[in-house]
Amino acid sequence: MSNRLAGRVALISGGTLGIGRAIAEVFQREGACVFILGRDSVQGNATAAELTRQLPGLPVRYIPSDLRHSQQIQNALSCLSKFHSKVDILVNNAGIEMDKTIEKLTAEDWDLILDVNLRGAFLLTQATLPFFPESGGAIVNIGSIHATHAFPGCIPYACSKAGLVALTRNCALELAHRHIRVNCISPGYIDTRLWEEYLKSSPNPEELAEQTRALHPVGRRGLPCDVAEATLFLASDSSAFITGTDLLIDGGLTIRAHP
Ligand code: NAP
Repeated sequence: MSNRLAGRVALISGGTLGIGRAIAEVFQREGACVFILGRDSVQGNATAAELTRQLPGLPVRYIPSDLRHSQQIQNALSCLSKFHSKVDILVNNAGIEMDKTIEKLTAEDWDLILDVNLRGAFLLTQATLPFFPESGGAIVNIGSIHATHAFPGCIPYACSKAGLVALTRNCALELAHRHIRVNCISPGYIDTRLWEEYLKSSPNPEELAEQTRALHPVGRRGLPCDVAEATLFLASDSSAFITGTDLLIDGGLTIRAHP
């Protein structure tokens, strides 16, 4: 522990699993008081308990919240305010995916993905702003390479992540006078539940796993901790002169001209 976030309060949407959980763990390791949001209370409480057990001096707290509902977001912030009067770091990480091509997509599918991945990030950002101290803070949005690279079956997801990049840039501009930096991280393939579900939906998961591994110049898919360490950088003072950027964390996946 190097205490890069000592004394900071961090709020992480979707911090109960996968990438969000890894971010919570890294932030806790660096001395932050961490709050995690998610819908599944069993999972949320289990994650909070496990992380707290590892570092009892820095409890991780779970607050149930569904980002599709603005009232639940407001309730989450009022719950957090019972413990702390400020938020220094917000990570908009919660996200869902759906594998359907345009012929099969419904308006409801579109609304669901956009509501969680983009509208949820907007609402949570807006609700958290009053809690940022005068000294400012950092917001990190977890996007995806899908914002810039097309894959079949990902239209609403890709559009939500492209929107998140635009949200990042525009918030960075509008919030700079409050010393709030806003950045985005665009991960490639990261081994989490989201990835496992995608693998399971394939007719040949083993072949797909090997194919995707081989696509990476670094020779492996990403791990949640790869994204978490980059998020720490953008949330900490080490990135004090960086705002409005979109950082690729993809093991070189997208640099090849011909995969
Ligand atoms: P994950 O393991 O499925 O975790 C998703 C998290 O979001 C969970 O904590 C989940 O908790 C929460 N969540 C989902 N819907 C929610 C809602 N309506 N309200 C509040 N919380 C909600 O996913 P992950 O792979 O860690 O992905 C995290 C982020 O990284 C996402 O934004 C994803 O798009 C992005 N990303 C992932 C990959 C990858 O390969 N894994 C690649 C690029 C980008 P509940 O289900 O309990 O609500």
